[in-house]
Amino acid sequence: MITTVTLNTSVDRRYILKDICKDEIFRCEDYSYTPGGKGINVSRVLNQLNVKLTCLGFVGGFSGGFIEEQLKLLKIDTNFTKINGETRTCIGIIFEDGSQSEILEKGPEISKKEIDDFIEKYKAALEKSKIITISGSIPKGVSSDIYRHLIELANKMDVKVILDTSGYSLIDGIKASPYLIKPNKDELEAITKIKINSNNDIIRACKDLMNMGAKNIAVSLGKDGMIFFGNEGKFKVRIPKIKVLNTVGSGDSTVAGFALGLLKKSDIEDILKLANACGISNAMEKETGKINVSIVKDLIDSIEVFDIS
Ligand code: ADP
Repeated sequence: MITTVTLNTSVDRRYILKDICKDEIFRCEDYSYTPGGKGINVSRVLNQLNVKLTCLGFVGGFSGGFIEEQLKLLKIDTNFTKINGETRTCIGIIFEDGSQSEILEKGPEISKKEIDDFIEKYKAALEKSKIITISGSIPKGVSSDIYRHLIELANKMDVKVILDTSGYSLIDGIKASPYLIKPNKDELEAITKIKINSNNDIIRACKDLMNMGAKNIAVSLGKDGMIFFGNEGKFKVRIPKIKVLNTVGSGDSTVAGFALGLLKKSDIEDILKLANACGISNAMEKETGKINVSIVKDLIDSIEVFDIS
């Protein structure tokens, strides 16, 4: 089984508008509400890939109830920790010219008791899981080193962790040697302070991350595919050109592909093809955290993996 961890869940509200300005009322006919947070996207993609999974994290209030209800409708198993606060809402306003504005709530403060409840659920999940994915930011009230702690607990049980976060929580989490991290170019630059202009810069940055404790690093490069660096070898992934509709959630879809590949104990080349195919398929859909399984299968045949070690 795979367990996904999303500490900072959200309800993502998306409104499509022509324009917006002060002191006016805007009526909107094209809008949607979906459960959000990077790990929730990973969960949705795993579910489409027919993988048995459980979602862990914090949910509370009306928004938290909505997230649980929606995941239940998708037949996704959840074991969330209920909190007193209200789960945050993230509003995306998409204008007809393609530009976008976002309003992101800060989110609730998590109490000590709620964190302890979560850790108990996490320990129980480790007993049943082969792979854990940990995605996104850390909510208020939770110590910034929680990911390191979660990875250490998983390592003791020989459960592989994929960590997909940024900034301090990534730097700190790496210290516990997660099995795989998946920074994109910006995240890699931010944590290594190396300006990335070439594949050699990526390799140099990856070496630094290995020295910090990372075991395997998948640097996702949007339309330019991926560079993989780690114990399993060094590879460049070349991907086909596609018609892009929405790349939000492509990284999360990639994480889902990695999780399934690792669960199946596939060869690293096949894991890289599956992970990228999921990311590409998401980019071809309007909806975030959505793939088309038959397109994923077709894409796998058009992705090339080169050994660069
Ligand atoms: P993140 O969402 O974390 O920033 P990326 O944008 O690098 O991650 O996307 C993850 C993966 O999704 C890429 O490695 C690639 O396989 C696929 N992907 C993302 N954007 C595109 C795109 N514009 N065209 C084709 N594939 C894409």
